[in-house]
Amino acid sequence: MLTHLLDLLHLFFPEVCSGCRQGLLQGEHIICTQCHLVLPRTGYHSLDGNEAERTFYGRVKMEAVAPLWFFNKSSRVQRMIHELKYHGHKPAGLLAGRMLGMELAAAPRFKGIDAIVPVPLHPSKLLSRGFNQSEVFGQGLSESMGVPMMPDLLKRVSRSGSQTRKRRGGRSKSVEGAFVADDSRLFPGHFLIADDVITTGATITACALPLLSLQGVRVSVAAMAYARR
Ligand SMILES: [Zn+2]
Repeated sequence: MLTHLLDLLHLFFPEVCSGCRQGLLQGEHIICTQCHLVLPRTGYHSLDGNEAERTFYGRVKMEAVAPLWFFNKSSRVQRMIHELKYHGHKPAGLLAGRMLGMELAAAPRFKGIDAIVPVPLHPSKLLSRGFNQSEVFGQGLSESMGVPMMPDLLKRVSRSGSQTRKRRGGRSKSVEGAFVADDSRLFPGHFLIADDVITTGATITACALPLLSLQGVRVSVAAMAYARR
């Protein structure tokens, strides 16, 4: 009965693919088969010293950095992240987290992650958006890796604009010191910072520094996408 109802609903309100906005076929969920095939996966989970990792060289020590996809303007990846951030289409963020989480769970470089820490939004932005897109992505990672998420370990104490809309360079200063860690909950473990897009690396660096202030802490990064220089 329920299946018939769902089929009927699908007939009148066909779901569309997050990547290309085409109607999904039966058996397809969130992203169509075509998009799954053409979305540019980085494969960086198993590549030591990859390009996204080198973004942090000389700034902060990262154990390993892995974005799921490459980010290009006007691409399916950009559309998905835009749908997630500005239209609240959470399934795409969850799916990206689950997909990358499965890769990380099997990658020796990401062994022994103790907790997932999403990049926090400033409370006023959280209020206007209603949710944190990095936390949605982190939820997917958490489910597929079997690792808890600590969404309140970091707090954003200063506001700054959307990083994906700004140019590279000259931005580090504006987010420096923008985050503080809850010292009462910080422990010497391996934390995986979850973010939507790695662009300049400034925001993630600003998140990692307060965590690394405690001796014995190690930090790695997972992102939905990486915008190449
Ligand atoms: Zn598609």
